[in-house]
Amino acid sequence: MPWLSRYGVQVSVLRTDKVHPVVSGNKWFKLKYYLEEANRLQKKDIVTYGGAYSNHLVATAAACQQLGFKSIGVIRGEEPKHYSHTLKDALGYGMALQFISREQYRRKQWPNWLTDSGFYHIPTGGYGPLGVQGAATIPYEKDKFDTLVCAVGTGTMLAGLMNGKAVGAKVVGISMFKNNFSLEAETRALLTDTAATLHLVQGYHFGGYARFTPELLGFMNDLYAQTGVPTDFVYTGKLFYAVADLIEKRYFSGGERVLVVHCGGLQGNLSLPKGQLNF
Ligand SMILES: *Cc1c(COP(=O)(O)O)cnc(C)c1O
Repeated sequence: MPWLSRYGVQVSVLRTDKVHPVVSGNKWFKLKYYLEEANRLQKKDIVTYGGAYSNHLVATAAACQQLGFKSIGVIRGEEPKHYSHTLKDALGYGMALQFISREQYRRKQWPNWLTDSGFYHIPTGGYGPLGVQGAATIPYEKDKFDTLVCAVGTGTMLAGLMNGKAVGAKVVGISMFKNNFSLEAETRALLTDTAATLHLVQGYHFGGYARFTPELLGFMNDLYAQTGVPTDFVYTGKLFYAVADLIEKRYFSGGERVLVVHCGGLQGNLSLPKGQLNF
């Protein structure tokens, strides 16, 4: 890539998207300790939460099916006329869906039947102590990199990578949300070193969560044509775009060894109109 060679920054990609075809990327790592705990507590039903484009929902549904749990997805927003691919896939993996108005979801006003003591609850996006513990186990050669860069939704993966990093290494998170003012505090709440510097980069959301522009899709197509790395339009396309742009803006120094964490999410591209991507 022309943007790569210009300033001598060394970029490697950690392909966590290849960990599992559906329980892809960071979701595998964020879910594992929750599911282990559910198993230990002999729970049969897993309840989790998310929006209509949540990779976390599909990953949870697929993992539950594989492990023999029943799964229930509590979905933000009224039931749509046409289900997103994400919702269809979650249903296909046996997840029962419960739609909740945005207002009630925000206030965490869940229907009474969800408080059944037999249910095991995994928070939205796997955010929480067990999620961050799992994210800290994302494996890579720690002595080989100065800087990790990852996409940020709830901040769970960012916090996990920070908790697990080598001393002196830096982790940079690219926020995928517009105006998520609580993100910094929520990420910090998961850190073992609560005084650590958070490197959160804003401004690469392309209009907001799950929004996209022709420029973004063009970049993703070029990246794939030149490197064979497929990305998704919700997270990793914006992540790589940010890396390219930050290199151009001299955010990284010459010789800096940067590891971009490809955190999965490729299933999200099924929501794009056909013919937009060359992969
Ligand atoms: C879920 C997801 C994220 C967000 O991870 P958080 O731990 O919630 O910050 C980032 N990238 C991809 C591809 C995802 O699927």
